[in-house]
Amino acid sequence: MTNGLKGRLVVVSNRVGDPRQGSAGGLAVAVGEALSSSGGLWFGWSGKIIEGGAKSETKQHRQSAGNITLATIDLSRDDYDSYYLGFSNRVIWPVFHYRLDLADLDAGFFEGYQRVNRVFAHRLMAELRPDDVIWIHDYHLIPLAAELRALGCTHRIGFFLHIPLPPPLILAAIPGHEWLIRSLFAYDLVGLQSHADVAHFARYVTTEANAEVLPDDHYRAFGRIVRASAYPIGIDVEQFRRLGEAEDSQKMLRMMREQYAQRELLVGVDRLDYSKGLPQRFKAFRLLLARYPENRRRATLVEIAPPTREDVEAYADIRRELEGLAGSINGEFGELDWMPIRYIHRAIARKRLPGLYRAGRVALVTPLRDGMNLVAKEYLASQDPDNPGVLVLSRFAGAAEQLSEALLVNPYDTVATAETIERALRMPLEERRERHRELLRKIRTYDVHWWWKTFLQDLANARRENH
Ligand code: UDP
Repeated sequence: MTNGLKGRLVVVSNRVGDPRQGSAGGLAVAVGEALSSSGGLWFGWSGKIIEGGAKSETKQHRQSAGNITLATIDLSRDDYDSYYLGFSNRVIWPVFHYRLDLADLDAGFFEGYQRVNRVFAHRLMAELRPDDVIWIHDYHLIPLAAELRALGCTHRIGFFLHIPLPPPLILAAIPGHEWLIRSLFAYDLVGLQSHADVAHFARYVTTEANAEVLPDDHYRAFGRIVRASAYPIGIDVEQFRRLGEAEDSQKMLRMMREQYAQRELLVGVDRLDYSKGLPQRFKAFRLLLARYPENRRRATLVEIAPPTREDVEAYADIRRELEGLAGSINGEFGELDWMPIRYIHRAIARKRLPGLYRAGRVALVTPLRDGMNLVAKEYLASQDPDNPGVLVLSRFAGAAEQLSEALLVNPYDTVATAETIERALRMPLEERRERHRELLRKIRTYDVHWWWKTFLQDLANARRENH
């Protein structure tokens, strides 16, 4: 598989993964494939923190993974606190997920964010060859291209934002938002997850930065031209189906079918993040049991919600809330031989997930806001086309723009969500098949290979009046 680029591909992301590891999923697989097709460099943070007041740039690690070089740097405690925990995860993450109430907007993390992006730029400049093409990922590194340009970098640089881009008036709550969005104009191509995100970008740059709209998703402002388009990320459908046929998944499927032989299983798989709408989901499930009593002793919700970013307070709060809800629902409705909610605060290995998905008669993917949500696509890929389960999907997940044959819900509306879950549980076989057929066709067409190839092709063809 070739990536179609003339030069070497250089990928930069906050974390660097080893694409050869069996547990690798998502970005590591996609980026690994793009990199290994012609050899390349993957640069980012090692995941290590240096204590004791040392500076971030003092250490660099290099490792080969086949024809890919993995180059990483360690971060000082101060930089980790302000760049990663602070600005990335207490400012950008909540605001970009529309949660101004959870953002620490005046805590002054901004300098640390800028400083680490500058350190990344200096380190990367020393690595670059003249014909390299650079692809930068995600919200930790928005200003990286601007920092590279300031050092004289004239390479093609693309950016992909894996999380949503909010409307201008929400974005404007971030002190320094002008600088943040202006820095996107240092790229040749900006990739977003959905057309809604592109529309937000367009509205921001035209209203706040007086940008001129040019044909084919191009915008001119700050003396530069950038293209901003939607590239909804996909999964490797065939790889996921193969994973489903392997022993680990089959074992999981057998175990679930045995344990829940008398039940109808609903599944949810999410990092325990406040963007995932888990309390609302549990409340909708409680309402399902209250309003449709035929589901008592039958419907069981298995929610896998592994911990994430536990050193940010908002995450401890959501965990407590969820534990309280699961306990009260199980206390109210549970029987000696039936527990309505199985809430598990641990990760399930990727290789076992297809088995769990396949056992689920219904999947509940109901985030309040989500860049894409790959779990929705993995659930679809894992189903038996002759007897598929039903996907209940939040209209606020990026995936909803593509997956219109799922049962779309507004997760804030608990009553309507409960009614939709009931409908999913009762959906006739023929309708389930039809919807699944169309959904599977879509995730196959717009899979992860399509995603990186289309992005890199557009980056290679991007207009270059800028240089
Ligand atoms: N995942 C996993 N084990 C778990 C929970 C999640 O392997 O216990 C994987 C899941 O298969 C999916 C990814 O983590 O590939 C989550 O991606 P998604 O886009 O749904 O949400 P994100 O966590 O990126 O917000």
